[in-house]
Amino acid sequence: MIPIRSATEIDSIRAACAIVHKVQLVLEAAVAPGVSTQDLDELAEATIRDHGGIPAFKGYHGFPASICASINAEAVHGFPRAAPLLDGDVVCVDVGVRLDGWYGDGAFTIGVGTISEAARGLLATTRAALDAGIEASVAGGRLTDISHAVELAAIAGGATVIREYGGHGIGRGLHEDPHILNYGPPDRGPRLKAGHVFAIEPILSLGSADVEVAADGWTTITTDCSLAAHFEHTVALTADGPCILTLPAGQPAVGVPV
Ligand code: MG
Repeated sequence: MIPIRSATEIDSIRAACAIVHKVQLVLEAAVAPGVSTQDLDELAEATIRDHGGIPAFKGYHGFPASICASINAEAVHGFPRAAPLLDGDVVCVDVGVRLDGWYGDGAFTIGVGTISEAARGLLATTRAALDAGIEASVAGGRLTDISHAVELAAIAGGATVIREYGGHGIGRGLHEDPHILNYGPPDRGPRLKAGHVFAIEPILSLGSADVEVAADGWTTITTDCSLAAHFEHTVALTADGPCILTLPAGQPAVGVPV
């Protein structure tokens, strides 16, 4: 059952998402060679708490940090660590915030210093896949319209969908129904309605669709060690179309210009 949120409830989710966006801006400005993902995690937690929020990932099924920080071939759920980021690395930062019992979730991927042409292309394709998924998030359509739009954009950009992970409903819980595949035929699954709130999140690679989980039990790495990228917005479906809650009106988008 996919919850239908009232305008007031969506405003509550929007408030949590506004903190997600603030954290993203702080981290985007901080990413540089020599900075560690542990530094980014500390900055994220301080920013979330300064705004009255709670880091949603910390303690979630035992996850130890406020952000997931996945470097290069790590696709999702990377542990922040003390090793400094290096020039040419690509790092994905995923952040979740709980505020007054409501959740917001967003991710972006950014180059550290100067990155390769191929890496820039993957980032651009993953952003385009997110945009396509959001554009397909229209009341009256069906759930897999989103999945199909993401996959088409990935293919158009020469990237591969990592199929084990996808988007999800969000609101009172960090992960709610439905699970949103990033591939597959359109026009299947539940009818989309105004009041649905989804975290849409393509996770793409330049090579393998397959991933394996590292010894830490969380960090997910492409089996062929190809570069991966991940962008995510929390989106409310309204009668007027999709509304990106993790990109407040008038605020800059987060992620490397490509
Ligand atoms: Mg998510």
